[in-house]
Amino acid sequence: MQKKRVVIIGSGPAGFSAALYTARAQLNPVIIAGDKLGGQVALTHEIDNYLGFPDSLGGMELVERSKAHVEKFGAEVLFEMVEEVDFANGSPFTVKTNNDTYLADSVIVTIGANPRQLNVPGENEFVGRGVSYCGTCDGFFFRGKDIVVVGGGDSAVEEAIFLTRFATSVTIIHRRDSLRAGVQLVERATKNEKISFIWDTVIEEILGDEDEQTTGVRLKNLKTDEVYVKPTQGVFIFIGHDPNSNVFGGQLATNDEGYVITDQRYHTNIDGIFAAGEIQDQIWRQVATSVGQGAAAGISAIHWLEEHEAELQSLDEDVKVEVVKETEKESALGAD
Ligand code: NAP
Repeated sequence: MQKKRVVIIGSGPAGFSAALYTARAQLNPVIIAGDKLGGQVALTHEIDNYLGFPDSLGGMELVERSKAHVEKFGAEVLFEMVEEVDFANGSPFTVKTNNDTYLADSVIVTIGANPRQLNVPGENEFVGRGVSYCGTCDGFFFRGKDIVVVGGGDSAVEEAIFLTRFATSVTIIHRRDSLRAGVQLVERATKNEKISFIWDTVIEEILGDEDEQTTGVRLKNLKTDEVYVKPTQGVFIFIGHDPNSNVFGGQLATNDEGYVITDQRYHTNIDGIFAAGEIQDQIWRQVATSVGQGAAAGISAIHWLEEHEAELQSLDEDVKVEVVKETEKESALGAD
């Protein structure tokens, strides 16, 4: 068991930004990064809208630079998965990973959100065999192929445009007759000769062959009820995200969709626990906004620790005894 001042759960832009601020305040934060560094941004091919980078920035490049940046100021990045937390009994909070247990005076939660699934037959079966949630990761494998993209938001349209680099044709299938995506993206997509649209339509099933490769989709037009098969070799699904709040076992207050509720200073319902980035932001979801939220949550944590210093120091004495006892127990078990 280890005792830390700040534990940051998540290694996306919000997590790294919170780490930068808390590290520069000499709090030696620990980032529990999960098994992959960077979250969603690591899967992004090019970031064109991050201020100060007019020539684009690769998602992974940003992640690696962020890691180097926070480590320079004393943050520690651990590739561990959080399995369980105990936030309910107040500070110090317990964060149990697949490798160790951490006690933390304060915790900043930044574990983002995961791509939503269609939940139709064939979807799970053909993941990696034609079904994908990441154009940047898988686009290359669809060179010269006819593919479909599902969704009508910014992600669907942006990824559809990106996928035209590889695919012969990209058909956007949307359940309504107008896109939710921003005007500029819509204009770029409609001008792109490789992109076409199927409106008012949902995928009922993803079809494949005996080689377990995707061969088509069974579609239903919601206005006419017409059902038909469209041959395709790839199905890219971009229909939003679900926040990764389950690991907190209901200890953090969330809205109906599972997004952690924070106040303007990124405090959650539990004193000493903060949340930033897509785990609590359903609206903006930009690298820039996540970085800003992470910085603000980091500053809030610094202020909170300063305000509670005396109280935390007296708790620390009890914790030290507990940590010693636990460590002795662990070494005794190891010796058996
Ligand atoms: P989104 O805006 O929530 O759009 C999800 C899309 O999927 C909507 O068009 C929705 O249809 C459709 N959809 C949802 N569930 C569906 C289902 N079960 N079956 C079929 N279609 C379904 O999600 P997003 O595109 O991932 O964007 C999320 C946020 O990130 C947004 O705020 C967006 O602006 C931002 N973003 C920005 C950029 C950028 O600025 N470059 C890039 C990517 C994302 P309806 O329209 O009918 O609801």
